[in-house]
Amino acid sequence: MLLQEQIFTSEFDRWLKISWDGFVVHYDEIGTKGGNRKAFTKAFCRNLQRALIGFDAKVQNLFDHLLVFVPQDKFLEALLSAAKVFGTAYVAPVRILPQSVDEAIKAAVQTYNLLASEKETFAIRVRRVDKTFPFTSQELESLMGQRVVDMTGALVNLSEPNILISFRIYPDRIYQMGPKIQGVGGLPVGVTGKVLALISGGIDSPISAWLIMRRGCSVDFLHFHAMPNNEEAAAGKVRDLIEKIVTPQGTSTRLLLIPYHTFQLALLMSKVPQPLELVLFRRFMLKVANRIAKEKGLQGIVTGDSLCQVASQTMENLAVIDNASELPIFRPLLTYDKREIITLAQKIGTYELSIQPYKDCCSLIARHPETKAKLSEVIEAEKLLPIERLIEISLSEMAVLNIGEDKARKPSP
Ligand code: ATP
Ligand code: MG
Repeated sequence: MLLQEQIFTSEFDRWLKISWDGFVVHYDEIGTKGGNRKAFTKAFCRNLQRALIGFDAKVQNLFDHLLVFVPQDKFLEALLSAAKVFGTAYVAPVRILPQSVDEAIKAAVQTYNLLASEKETFAIRVRRVDKTFPFTSQELESLMGQRVVDMTGALVNLSEPNILISFRIYPDRIYQMGPKIQGVGGLPVGVTGKVLALISGGIDSPISAWLIMRRGCSVDFLHFHAMPNNEEAAAGKVRDLIEKIVTPQGTSTRLLLIPYHTFQLALLMSKVPQPLELVLFRRFMLKVANRIAKEKGLQGIVTGDSLCQVASQTMENLAVIDNASELPIFRPLLTYDKREIITLAQKIGTYELSIQPYKDCCSLIARHPETKAKLSEVIEAEKLLPIERLIEISLSEMAVLNIGEDKARKPSP
C-alpha cells in the first residue's frame, strides 16, 4: 500500500539534492504471469504513459522494468503518480552511468559529499543484473566502499548505514538508484476483465471499485440518484469520486446515471411491506445493472457491501439480493471492517468527498428494514411491482457520462 507521506520524510528529501536522470518503475506480479506477461507489461506501460502525460514524461519499456524521464521540476510529483498506477511494485530515482566502476565510485563519492552531514556512515550496495560482469557484487561493494572511505574519510556501517548508496549493473550501463518508494501493486487496469460497479456516493463503494481495479479490471459505474434530473446528478460528487479513483490509472470510464424516482413512485403506490423496500430496491438495482452489463459485455457486478455492516448486508439479505443477479457479484469489501475501509479511503483520497452531505436514495427508504429477508416473501412482494416495466423506464431515463476520455492526468496545482 502506498503511503503518500512516505515520500515526504526528511530522509527522502535530501536525496532530491542529486540531479537524477529519471526514475525506474518495477512491477512484480505482472512478471509472474507467464504467457500473459508481454500483454500485461504492454498494458502497464500504456496506462503509465497516460497517467504521466501531464508531466511531459517519456516512458521506456525495458526487459524487466520501465524507465521514466521527466523534467526536473515535475520529478517528485511524477514519481509519486507512477507509484499509484496499478501494477507498480516500487519506483526509485535513477542516474544512468556508463558501465564503469570508476564512474560508479565517482558518483558514490559525490552522493556522500552532497548528502552527508558530519560523521554520517554509509554503505555501498551493488546488485549485478549482468552476471558476466567480472566482479561479484560483494567484491564491488568492498572495492567501491574502500575507495569512498579513502576519498571522503567517511565511516562504513554495513548493517545500519545513514546513507545507503545503491547500484545496479546492467550489460551496457550502471544505474545508481535512490531510495525505493513502494507502489500500490496489483495488475494494470484492463487486463483481467470488465465489470460494472454500483456506486452510491458513500465511503464504501468507491473503495470496492478501487480494489477490483487493482486486480486489473476495467470498471464502468452505475449510480441511482435522487436528484431532480440527470444534469444535477452529473454535477454531483459521484463524478468527482470516480475521477479520483480512475484518472490516476491513466484510463477512462463511463458513469451511468439513473433517476431513482421511477422506482420510488412505484413503491409509494404499491402495497409492498415497508421492511422489504430496501431489499427490493437492491434487487432492482441489480436487475438493471445486469441488463446494462450484458448489453455492454461486462462480466460481473461490483458492490461495496461489507458483511453485516448495515441492514441490507446481513448474510440472509445478501443471499436474497444475489438471487436477483445472473452475473456474478463481486464484493471486495465483504470482510473489511469500517475502520479499515475509512483508512483506505483516506489514503486513496476519497474520504473527504464521501463524507460530504449527499441526498442518497437509500435514505429515502423505510427506516426499519428487514434484516433476515426470506426469498419466498421477497419474491411475493416483488410481484406487487411492475418490475419489467420499471426496468425499461429506468433504462430509458439513463444518462451516460464519459470520464477521463482523451484527458491526460494534469498535475495538481
Ligand atoms: P456505501 O458506503 O458504498 O454507500 P453502505 O454502507 O451505505 O455503502 P448500502 O447503502 O447498503 O451500504 O449499499 C450497499 C451497496 O449498494 C453500495 O456499496 C453500492 O455498491 C450499492 N448502492 C447503494 N446505493 C446505491 C445507489 N444509489 N446507486 C448505486 N449503487 C448503490
Ligand atoms: Mg450507502
